[in-house]
Amino acid sequence: MDINQLLRKNIQSLKPYSSARDEYTGEAMVFLDANENPFNEPYNRYPDPLQKEVKEKISKLKSVATQNIFLGNGSDEPIDLLIRAFCEPRIDNIVSMNPTYGMYQVAADISGVELNKVSLNEDFELGAQEILDATNQNTKLIFLCSPNNPTGNSLNPEALHVIVSSFNGIVVIDEAYIDFAPGKTFLHEIDKYPNLVILQTFSKAWGMAGIRLGMAFAQTPIISVLNKIKYPYNLNILTQKKALELLDKKVSVQNWVKLLIAEREKMEELLMEFPFVEKVYPSDANFLLAKMHDAKGVYDYLVEEGIIVRDRSKVHLCKDTLRITIGTSDENETLLNALKNLL
Ligand code: PMP
Repeated sequence: MDINQLLRKNIQSLKPYSSARDEYTGEAMVFLDANENPFNEPYNRYPDPLQKEVKEKISKLKSVATQNIFLGNGSDEPIDLLIRAFCEPRIDNIVSMNPTYGMYQVAADISGVELNKVSLNEDFELGAQEILDATNQNTKLIFLCSPNNPTGNSLNPEALHVIVSSFNGIVVIDEAYIDFAPGKTFLHEIDKYPNLVILQTFSKAWGMAGIRLGMAFAQTPIISVLNKIKYPYNLNILTQKKALELLDKKVSVQNWVKLLIAEREKMEELLMEFPFVEKVYPSDANFLLAKMHDAKGVYDYLVEEGIIVRDRSKVHLCKDTLRITIGTSDENETLLNALKNLL
């Protein structure tokens, strides 16, 4: 598959911006090339445009070569860049699933690109053939999300293989919640599939939503395209420094994940005991989707109690559901105690 053939014509021929730090990358005694202020070290300097040090740490952590890693301002950045690189506004289209993470639709709408949604079944499972049937000759991207937001379930790996191996365009698998899932990541499948992009993020298991750091993994032709069209200095110095610090904290991250999974299992059981809770969907993520009698009423009551969950009742297949993020043991206890007052 020739990735370049899939690109928009203007991106194929784009001459990217060349920054001072792109043109000279080595050490020097005096830097007078970027119109920086010489005072206020180190924040006076532009950051490394390709975030070499951070990528080296991520490369070791994930066993993926640095040239297969793109870093963005959250994983929302590569979602937007992929659409802008591959989809000609008002001509090309995207296929995704329903329900799923809302930013695929928003990013497509901003770019003037149609997004066709294929419904999951009642158990939130995906039909590979239905996804493929929804594509046409102008479909450039398929966005899939596993574990899925807001449903919490992982998609069937067989279905994912069928889609990636049969589709003549780019398949993006968003694994924002993969660290909480028992199943295997598709990350290493990028070696096999030139059209596969895996998205992961430091916003969830790594507890770094505030620094905005997302990752896209793919073979080099796709990574090169993302690097070509991103803002030159898309990750600031503070984010890169903090990421380097936190990447050494692997042990606490593993402990957080273990604790959150244990809390999720406990919450799943305890929520089910409330008579107004009809169903708690199985989750491989750091949240639970619970179907209940009068979800809106429960939501409003919790807001009054100072407890904020997410009302997903208006989302396709999610009527009368609340999405509840797993917090600390104390936070979860506070929620359960508030719900007991409704009995
Ligand atoms: N993908 C999914 C499925 C998400 O739920 C989220 C955040 N809610 C993101 C991507 C975006 O994450 P970020 O931009 O913080 O990396």
